[in-house]
Amino acid sequence: MLEKTSLNNKKAHIVEIFNSIQGEGLFVGEMQTFVRFSGCNLRCAYCDTSHNKEISKEISVKELTKELEEKSAKVVSLTGGEPLLHSDFIKELTANFKASYYLETNGTLADKLEQVIDSIDTVAMDIKLKSATGEENKFKENEKFANIAKNAKNFFIKIVFDENITEEEIENCVKIAKKNNTQIILQPKMPLAHNFEPEKIFNKFYKKYEFTRLIPQTHKFLNIR
Ligand code: SF4
Repeated sequence: MLEKTSLNNKKAHIVEIFNSIQGEGLFVGEMQTFVRFSGCNLRCAYCDTSHNKEISKEISVKELTKELEEKSAKVVSLTGGEPLLHSDFIKELTANFKASYYLETNGTLADKLEQVIDSIDTVAMDIKLKSATGEENKFKENEKFANIAKNAKNFFIKIVFDENITEEEIENCVKIAKKNNTQIILQPKMPLAHNFEPEKIFNKFYKKYEFTRLIPQTHKFLNIR
């Protein structure tokens, strides 16, 4: 049940808003309107998002609503950065602009997710692995997060991995997915390292948990934004 939020016209730093085709995860190929929020609580080594606030623009819920209307948005992808750093803004936006909301998140801010979960249709939760990001693993936070995310209509876990993934990491990811009966989408880190065979890692996951798929980032080789 959507809690009605009056329009206080909150503001958030947003880097860009654009229509494109989703290139990753379970809804690959779907037309979405991407709202890229500025700022993140992590610093992954492979991150292709600038953390420089200067390149973003502070806009209000009212202004964003107008832009989403102009873009005929049906599915709104809340991405970043980490969009949940702007949970108050998202709560107000979802109450004032009707659409299907798709949240792309690093799966570490459970308290913020709790604030907005009732208005999110799809949670695409990344588990960020130390072997790929250089950041410490956050399995405890991921577990807490998944326990709330499973209440969304659609929930899946995405894992970007490379040849350095460890058995312990695989074990922890499978444990979280199993506990919440959710799909794992494995996404190889691009470009692929020489001699790296993602299929071998897929097979390791699959042996432990059959609810696993291997899907690369399609927008990169289709030249889509
Ligand atoms: S969580 Fe995402 S936005 Fe944040 S540093 Fe990692 S890749 Fe970049």
